[in-house]
Amino acid sequence: MRNRIVAGNWKMNLTPTETEEYVRAFLPQVADRFLSRPVTELAKSERSERRRSNVKIILIPPFTSLDRAGRLLTGRPSIALGAQNLHFESNGAFTGEISTSMLLDCGCQYVLAGHSERRHVFGESDALVASKLRAALTAGLAPILCVGETLDERRKGATLDVLVRQLSSALTGPEARDVDLGPVVVAYEPVWAIGTGETASSEQAEETIGEIRGWIESSIGSESAESTAILYGGSVKPANTAELLTQPNIDGVLVGGASLKPDSFASIVSEAFTSNTERG
Ligand code: PEP
Repeated sequence: MRNRIVAGNWKMNLTPTETEEYVRAFLPQVADRFLSRPVTELAKSERSERRRSNVKIILIPPFTSLDRAGRLLTGRPSIALGAQNLHFESNGAFTGEISTSMLLDCGCQYVLAGHSERRHVFGESDALVASKLRAALTAGLAPILCVGETLDERRKGATLDVLVRQLSSALTGPEARDVDLGPVVVAYEPVWAIGTGETASSEQAEETIGEIRGWIESSIGSESAESTAILYGGSVKPANTAELLTQPNIDGVLVGGASLKPDSFASIVSEAFTSNTERG
């Protein structure tokens, strides 16, 4: 069974000091409740819940908070650290950029590639996203490849074409040759639902994510289709998490705005644990 993933992308929010306050408030609500008591201390029913609670939490703060967050999360294997971006070269004269080794040294295990704000605000092309994905995989970071259509593209009926273009460039194009795609996580984030308060309905998200899984099956193989975690992102909040996670193809959520407050992100995590126990 694929793991559940709940990832919080803080975007350009929270200073290192605020990050420390956040993590100190978040851990008792989530980690201590679900994850950190030794199995031997758990009642039998709790043990079977723990076995099924294979939920991975990923905090994705801005670069300046990574080191602080990484130190605070040491020894918490169920809470991973992710970065919002990376440069594809390993070092050199790239002022303002951040390399994979810098991310790894801060404790990152994941990195976003192709977030819609990178694509649409900063003009990142499919080719650039593909080279970032390759750099991440080569360095041992698991990329979270974000794909999604704009409102205009959806209205024109071009959703699938856009997704296939973004997926194939990153996963079956020249940059994907000779790399192990095993660690890749895909996030379907319709651009019209990001930060707008408008969520794709759970049926819409399930249908599109099912199509993405179908594309992975036909273009990469059935094993990859079965094992790749595919997340939904776009105005996820505590109130709509459970419903999204009842869908068989939706393995988790990528959360922006609602991950900025530890209480609200902890509620989303809690919904994921509950729905995971039900699905187990
Ligand atoms: C995101 O930034 O990936 C995102 C989905 O944002 P929001 O949850 O705020 O829509």
